[in-house]
Amino acid sequence: MADELDGARLDGHHAMHLETGVALINALTGEHVQGRAKPALGGHDLVRAAAGALAPADGQVDLLSAERLQAVASRLREIIESLSRREHDEAAGLLNRMLADSQARPYLHRHGEQSWHLHFHSPDADLVQQWAVGLAVSVAAALGDHIPHRVGLCAAPRCDQVYVDASQAQIKRFCGLACQNRVKAAAYRARARRSGP
Ligand SMILES: [Zn+2]
Repeated sequence: MADELDGARLDGHHAMHLETGVALINALTGEHVQGRAKPALGGHDLVRAAAGALAPADGQVDLLSAERLQAVASRLREIIESLSRREHDEAAGLLNRMLADSQARPYLHRHGEQSWHLHFHSPDADLVQQWAVGLAVSVAAALGDHIPHRVGLCAAPRCDQVYVDASQAQIKRFCGLACQNRVKAAAYRARARRSGP
């Protein structure tokens, strides 16, 4: 049983990409976070948010790249939102379109004397194209491996945050404790109102 569960887990590379995808989506898209309105990002704030969501090594982000990354994040959000509604056909269609648009093209690459490894973007892809391909491939791998429930949309009202559920039981419903407690407190108040003074 333990082996089967391990077999259903994404490999480290894709799992890392999912984390980055979720970080980009939460940093660059969405109208609400944990009950509060989220300010629209532009200029330096957008650049800082995009660079912060990527690995430190990819920190050189200019305004145009940040805007393109925001567009990538919006497409990914749409896909993850369909997955969280269990609309897998819709998610697969959106992913196939994203893979085609991002010109995913698998090829084996080798840095110096390192061992060969698989890249999914074309050799001349820029930073944003590389991320668009990498993120689409990793979400597609998660869907193709029958574990799309690993990504989800926070179930709390007025929160658009997405999350990766790395727990074994995969029962995560909220982006974090803040939303979980907010929903619990609202349910408690509703019960208290019903039972009256
Ligand atoms: Zn939330």
